[in-house]
Amino acid sequence: MSYNPTPMPYAGASPQLDFMELNRSRDEIKKHLDNPKARAIIFQNGRPALTPQLTPFRVHPKKLIGQNIYDPGPVFLGLEDGQPLFAFHLAEGPSTLVKTDDFQELRRVGSQLNPADLAVLGRAKSFLDWHFDHNFCAKCGNKSHPELAGLIRKCPSCSTEHYPRVNPVVIMLVLHGDQCLLGAGHKFPEGAFSALAGFISPGETPEEAVIREVKEETGVDVTNPRYIFTQPWPYPSQLMLGFTAEAHAMDISLNKEELRAAKWVSKSTVRDVFNKTSQAFTRPPRYTIAYHLLRYWLAEQG
Ligand SMILES: [Zn+2]
Repeated sequence: MSYNPTPMPYAGASPQLDFMELNRSRDEIKKHLDNPKARAIIFQNGRPALTPQLTPFRVHPKKLIGQNIYDPGPVFLGLEDGQPLFAFHLAEGPSTLVKTDDFQELRRVGSQLNPADLAVLGRAKSFLDWHFDHNFCAKCGNKSHPELAGLIRKCPSCSTEHYPRVNPVVIMLVLHGDQCLLGAGHKFPEGAFSALAGFISPGETPEEAVIREVKEETGVDVTNPRYIFTQPWPYPSQLMLGFTAEAHAMDISLNKEELRAAKWVSKSTVRDVFNKTSQAFTRPPRYTIAYHLLRYWLAEQG
């Protein structure tokens, strides 16, 4: 039996969204903005506006006229089921369009949203957060401008083009027989445990990063890192590469700078936690790749 989450939350920006990255002339974008079926999703302070049913609040882009919109203006996310979809970043303060309470923290409500909506919101959030944090050219320091309807930024002074950053991270379920190694970060809620994770260093393969990160965080030597699946993670813009790896032994030497705790947990305990018949630890939320790595392991024989 194998387990394959489809679609993975935040991944693929939902199957129905065509990014249209090659077709973003000013005329084309104007045509999309004028399309009566065009829609816009709205963010403020990194939070999307959601309906009471927890779907993205969608309005025609023209409704945003007169609102206080941050640079980059409309970001064209692509065609959703053939209709143009934009994202806007409203400046802070009251709006006549959306109530302040409608802007919700994605991490708090993520488990209640469907994966396709999370994918669209995650793509939009990564773009808007990147624009917000990268207003100035990293090369010469002058103000840069959005181009290609928010796909990139360009510096008018030195002509450098800046592309949105995606930072690769490995996240791994370390296994030893029927035990898996879970860790608790310093910011985790009390009792919460998840798969170990860490950023890939320049010049490193993901497999090398798995082996190094596990050793650094827990002192455990692992071998045979095996890629399982991937999740884009918009906090702010990581690409989580999910692996399993096999531990040589179970001795833990905890790096307290990196983790508050780490422990081995048996497959039967993980299964009981998922079935809510055990409170041995709090499992990762449903919208995380760590949740799906654990589900993948539970679905394996043994
Ligand atoms: Zn520049």
